[in-house]
Order: sequence, then C-alpha cells, then structure tokens
Amino acid sequence: SVALGTTTHNAAAAAAMRVREFVQQRRLEGKVAIVTGGARGIGEAIVRAFVRHGARVVIADIDDAAGEALAAALGGALCSYVHCDVSVEADVERAVGCCVARYGRLDVLCNNAGVLGQQTPPSGAGAGAKSGGIATLDAAEFDRVLRVNTLGAALGMKHAARAMLQRRGAGGSIVSVASVAGVLGGMGPHAYTASKHALVGLTKNAACELGEHGIRVNCVSPFGVATPMLVNAWRHSHHDEDEDGSAAAPVSAEEVEKAEEMVRGMATLKGTTLRAGDIAEAALFLASEESRYISGHNLVVDGGVTTSRNVIG
Ligand code: NAD
Repeated sequence: SVALGTTTHNAAAAAAMRVREFVQQRRLEGKVAIVTGGARGIGEAIVRAFVRHGARVVIADIDDAAGEALAAALGGALCSYVHCDVSVEADVERAVGCCVARYGRLDVLCNNAGVLGQQTPPSGAGAGAKSGGIATLDAAEFDRVLRVNTLGAALGMKHAARAMLQRRGAGGSIVSVASVAGVLGGMGPHAYTASKHALVGLTKNAACELGEHGIRVNCVSPFGVATPMLVNAWRHSHHDEDEDGSAAAPVSAEEVEKAEEMVRGMATLKGTTLRAGDIAEAALFLASEESRYISGHNLVVDGGVTTSRNVIG
C-alpha cells in the first residue's frame, strides 16, 4: 500500500505539473480581448499571441480587408473583426458592444492603434526649418495624431472600463502600446512624441482610478519594429518625402531589412533584431494574470536604448 500511495502521489504531482504547463502555454484561456489596430504590424502579432494563448479576440481596425482576412485566418469562432476608428467615440462604443454581444464579456483591451504623423528630422539641426518642424507645426496634423494616439486610447479605456465594471469584481487588464517616444525626446515627430508621453500619463491616471476595481492599466513602449509604419518612416528619411507612417504602400522584404538595419545601428543591444513578436510577449504578460500586481507601469521594450545616453543623435 506504501508503493500504491507513492504511485498515486506521483500521478497527482504529474497531473498538477501538466495543469501548470497548460496554464503557462495558455495564459489567456477563457479570456476575451479587443486589440485596436490589430489588422497588421505589432497589433497583428498581439492578436496572434492572444489567440495562441486561448483568448477570443476582436480586431478593431480601419483596414477592413486586412482585419477580416486575419480574423478568418485565425478561425472565425476565436477571432472576429469590427470596423473601428479609435478616434470616433461611436465606433469605439460599438466595438466594445459587439465584443460583449459576441463573447459575453471583455477582460483585456489592447490600445495598439496609432499613427506616426507628418515627420520631422529625428533630432538636432534643421528641426525647425523643415516641414513638420516646431516652427512650421501644422495644427490640424497635430490634432489628428493626438486624436488617434491619445484620445483613441482614452476612449478605449472609457468603454472597456464600463464593460469591465459591469461585471463587478471580475477585474480586467488594459494594455496600451506607447513608444520610446513616450519616454524620450528626439525619437519621433513632435505630435507623435506628445501623444505618446500623454498616453503614458493617461495610463498612470487610469491605473490610480481603476485599481480599486481590480482593473490594471499598463503600457508597453517599443523601440523600432520594422512594421509598415517604420518602413514608411525609413522611406521618408531616405527620399525626403512628407510621408505619413500610415501610408498604405506595400512593404518589400528589402525595405524591412533596411529598416531593421537602421534600428540595429541605433540599438544598445547589438546582434538582436526587435520583432513585433517581442512586443506581443510583453503585451501578453501585462494582459495575463502573471502580472497581477503590476499596474500603472510602462514596460519599455527597447534593448536598453532609453537607458543609454549614447544612442540618439
Ligand atoms: P502600423 O502602421 O504598421 O499598423 C497600425 C495599425 O493601426 C494598422 O492596422 C492601421 O490600420 C491601424 N490604425 C491606424 N489608425 C487607426 C485608427 N484611427 N483606428 C483604428 N485603427 C487604426 O503600425 P505599427 O508599427 O504596428 O504600430 C502599432 C503601435 O505601436 C502604434 O501605436 C505605434 O505608435 C506603436 N509603436 C510602433 C513602433 C515601431 O517601430 N513600429 C515603435 C514604437 C511604438
């Protein structure tokens, strides 16, 4: 009977281990998430990671063709698409409503949608002279970037918080994608930098307010990832066009490699290329229970760039 007891104990321990492994692999099992700007780039990587970890995901984007194709590719039951311009409150409210109607709840909001806006030289001389510089600041463009990057995230928080608060005590996690341009100057156009600094501040405020309801609010701040946004920025810096990072021109493999090379040249951590999947891992951590005591935090994923005084300029 001693031998039998040991066998039972071992079997129980093995079963417990398998459960732990399963939870590790499926860190969002049973959860429901919305990812804004999830049709491509970093957002797409986040959508894929969330689905892989057991979540049902609503992609909220303005690129209907790409969003619908991704939702279909991930299996319509687990993932769906809704048209949503995050700067339009009615769209955001509708996206949250669609999510709750379809999946019954909302546990995770990832505010990822963003635009780079009209560009300026990254830093230093000439910043005021060129189109998009502070001396030629375009008020309408400034407004547009803040409406998407900051107001869009705030509206997402508002409607997500409402849905989460309705399920008293269920908590929730809100993760916004900010940027190293939300931490340092000289990393992007003026409006973009202002919008991302504001997003980091908004995250802290919302975390203070929503903590008592068990809703955590954090952000992730990437350095350069060779998405269409960054490739368009690279095009701009090489061809001197006033191109918006959200331009729809197809991105070639060669351009991705060039953009990655540019980022590697600036990075502190040498020999490693930052990929969208790395940002998705950070977002997944903040979305899941593994970060259950983390709120109001900005998780910088930059290979050490913002801690070095040697990188920029
Ligand atoms: P991207 O341009 O490749 O993709 C952005 C996605 O957001 C697209 O699917 C687009 O259709 C969608 N979108 C744009 N405006 C929208 C709106 N008003 N409403 C809803 N969806 C909208 O960009 P990305 O590089 O994947 O960027 C994703 C996020 O990461 C952004 O917030 C960006 O500021 C941030 N970020 C990117 C980098 C980088 O190097 N790529 C670095 C730091 C931060």
